[in-house]
Amino acid sequence: MLTNCNQSAEGDDKKSEYKALPASTEFDLVILNGRVIDPETAFDAVRNVGILDGRIALITEESISGKETVDATGKIVAPGFIDTHFHFQAPVGYSLGLRDGLTSSMDFEMGCAGSYIAPWYEARAGVTQANYGVAVSHELARAMFIDGSDGADYLINGPIAAYTTRAKTGWSQTRPNLEQGNAILQEIDKGLQSGAVGVGSTVGYMRAGVSSREMFEVQKVGARYGRATGAHTRYTLGNDTEENNGAQELIANAVALGAPANVEHFNNPGWRLAHEMIIRLQEQGHNIWGEIYPYAAGSTTINAEFLRPEIWIDKMGKRYEDTMLDPVTNEYYTLETYKATVASEPTRPIVIFKMPADDEWKWLTLKGVTMGSDAVGATPYLAPWDFPMDSLGGTHPRTAGSRGATIRLGREHKIPMMQLMSILSYNAAKHLGDTGLKFMQERGRIQTGMVADIVVFDPETFRDNSTYDKGAVPSTGMKAVIVNGQVTVRDDVLLPVFAGQPIRFEPQDKPRFEPISVESWNATFSTGMPSDFSGGVPVPDLDHPESDKH
Ligand SMILES: [Zn+2]
Repeated sequence: MLTNCNQSAEGDDKKSEYKALPASTEFDLVILNGRVIDPETAFDAVRNVGILDGRIALITEESISGKETVDATGKIVAPGFIDTHFHFQAPVGYSLGLRDGLTSSMDFEMGCAGSYIAPWYEARAGVTQANYGVAVSHELARAMFIDGSDGADYLINGPIAAYTTRAKTGWSQTRPNLEQGNAILQEIDKGLQSGAVGVGSTVGYMRAGVSSREMFEVQKVGARYGRATGAHTRYTLGNDTEENNGAQELIANAVALGAPANVEHFNNPGWRLAHEMIIRLQEQGHNIWGEIYPYAAGSTTINAEFLRPEIWIDKMGKRYEDTMLDPVTNEYYTLETYKATVASEPTRPIVIFKMPADDEWKWLTLKGVTMGSDAVGATPYLAPWDFPMDSLGGTHPRTAGSRGATIRLGREHKIPMMQLMSILSYNAAKHLGDTGLKFMQERGRIQTGMVADIVVFDPETFRDNSTYDKGAVPSTGMKAVIVNGQVTVRDDVLLPVFAGQPIRFEPQDKPRFEPISVESWNATFSTGMPSDFSGGVPVPDLDHPESDKH
C-alpha cells in the first residue's frame, strides 16, 4: 500500500504546482454559468470554467472569455464520465459512449491478448474520439495456449476476438499443464509490460478450467506491477451464496498479494454482502472496488457456462421462456431453441434477465461504487464513427444508455447529483490513479490543473433512450462533451473531433514474469517438503495424458 500512497501523493503535488491563470486570459474554451460539481472536493457551485491547452486553467465567479464558448446556464458541469467496463472498443462504440457522456472507456474484463496490447493502442492513436484503454486478457491467453489460437490476426481486436476463440472450449474447460500455465502467465506479463491498464479475467466463464491456484497466479502477475485485476468473478451468475464466494476469491487473493482489484458487475444476488466487504476493506486502506450498472438484465454469448440447463434451470430455478431474450429478433428462447442455437451459433449474443427491476436504482445509491456499463457490441461492430445509429443492430440497452439511465433513475429516486458524479467518474479515476496510472490522477476532477475531460448536461432532461427492444439509441440532453479540451459533442451532435488519448502505463523495458514450479514453491513455503507434492501448483496430468496434447 505504501507504493500507492506515494504515487497518489505525487499526483497531489502536481495539482498544487499548477497555478490558476488570471481571468483576463484569452482561453481556448470557456464554459459559462454552469453548476460545477467536483466529487473529490465536494465542490458544488455556479462558476465559469476556463480551458487552455487542454487543461482546466481557471474556475471563477469572474467573467471570462475565450475562442469558443459553451453556455452552461441551468446545466451541470462535471468531470467526463469514466467506464472501466466498456467492451465496444470500436469507432461507433465510442460514438455511442460519447453521446452518453463517456470520455474515458476501458475494457477491464475481456481485454486484449498480451502480445497485442501495443498494436491495440497503436491502431487507435490519432483516430479515436474518446480516451481508450484495455486490460490484458486472462481468457485470450488461455485460448492461445490451450486451444492454439495464438498468432491469429483477429487477436488485435481485443474483446471481440472472443467471438472467434469461444467457438472452441479449451479456454473455458481445460486445466493447463505447468508449461501451458506458465505460457499463460507470461502472456499476461507481456501485456502489462506493454502498458495495459491491468489484468482482465472472465473466470466466471471458465469455472471448470481455472483452478484457484491459477486465479491466484494471474493476480500475482498483476501484483508485480501494482496493477488491478478486474474480474467477472467465479459463480457469476450464481445464487446468493456462490456469487459472494466468487467475489471473495478475487478479494482474498488481492488482500494476500497486496494488489488492487475491481469486482465487476456485482449487481447480482448477494450484492449487499459483496458491497459491505469491499467498503470494509477500503476503510482498511485496500485499493479494492466494485462496479454496478443500472439494469436488471445482463448480456453475454449463449454458450456461457452458467446458462447451461443444469445450472440455469436445475440450480437457479429459471426458465429460458422468462429470462433469455434474443436482442435481434426480440423473442424469448425455449429449451429447444436454446439447445439448437448453442449448437449452430454458440457465440450468439443474448440478453438475460436475472434481477428485480426495482433493484436498479438502489445500486446507484451504494457508497464508493463505480458505474461500469458492460457495453457490448452492436452490429456492424466495426462500423465507422458516423454510422447512422438508427441502423445499428440489436444489443443490450446498457451499451448506449448506462449513463443516461443513471441520471434518469437518480432524478426519479432523488439520488444526490454528487453521488451520481462520483460513481460515473471520480471513483474510477481515484482507484485507478491509486494504482499509479497518471492518466487517471489528472482526470475525474473539475479542479485547476486537471485535464479538461468535461460533460455539460441538463439535469432535468439528460436521459437514456435505449431499450430492450431497441438497444443502440443514443442518450439525449447533453449540452457538450469535452475530451482533452476539445468539444466533441455539442447539443447532442457528435462532431468530427478525434482528441482521444491512450489510457495506458508507460511500457517497461523488462518483463517481470517469474515461472512457477513445484520446487520453488516448496523452497519458499516449506521447510523441506519433497518435490513430489504439488501444493496446488499445476503439474502435467499423467493419468490423463490426452489433456496435454493441445
Ligand atoms: Zn461480465
